[in-house]
Amino acid sequence: MPPAYPAACSVGQWMPVPEINELALGGRFHAYWPARCSVGFVPVPVAIGVAILLLLTALVAFRLVAVWWKYLGDRVITCPENHRPAGVTVDSRRAAWSGVARTPRLRLSACSRWPEMAGCGQECLSQIEASPEGCLVHRILVDWYAGKACASCKRPIGEIPPAGGKPALLLGDGFSVEWEQISAELLPETLATAKPICFACHMAQTLVREHPELVVDRHLPGDQASNR
Ligand code: SF4
Ligand SMILES: [Zn+2]
Repeated sequence: MPPAYPAACSVGQWMPVPEINELALGGRFHAYWPARCSVGFVPVPVAIGVAILLLLTALVAFRLVAVWWKYLGDRVITCPENHRPAGVTVDSRRAAWSGVARTPRLRLSACSRWPEMAGCGQECLSQIEASPEGCLVHRILVDWYAGKACASCKRPIGEIPPAGGKPALLLGDGFSVEWEQISAELLPETLATAKPICFACHMAQTLVREHPELVVDRHLPGDQASNR
């Protein structure tokens, strides 16, 4: 007959070891050695099972995010059909789900040659599989700016910030444009002739072009300095 201790044993209360052991057999309270009362005791196998489940969930989540991130973004490839550059986008969510436990199965969600070529075999995917990052528009531009200086102020372009003021492209006609204004399929031939221009010079040039009435030309001598 176990002693009637349950009401006297509360969480965290110290009790004599023999009494705790009696309660641990079938009472509401369980004993953790050396002799401390506790409730909600989780059997070791269950605790291990929960830990393994949490670990597997974390691994799957990590793999999903990693694959999704890897295939995110616009890319430039050479279309095998006409051997010209084309802008494509991988369905990164589909790639992530298909790649949880194996090599991701890639499909495109957009191509600059669609809808005319919609229904093609997407043979260009082999280029993305071979070099997922090498054909990323962002990576192509970062590599292109590396080591270059602004064509206007001659200062080094330097590191390109992940957000905010990015350098622009100075085109052959003297106009500067932002990256987003160049469609992916035109990027290779645009970069072949464009020059780099820093964010500050691009902003200044844009202001002169779009709001000449707000600009004062200080290069004009004395009283000739005025709004253009
Ligand atoms: S999706 Fe088709 S049309 Fe577009 S680049 Fe790839 S192979 Fe060419
Ligand atoms: Zn500059």
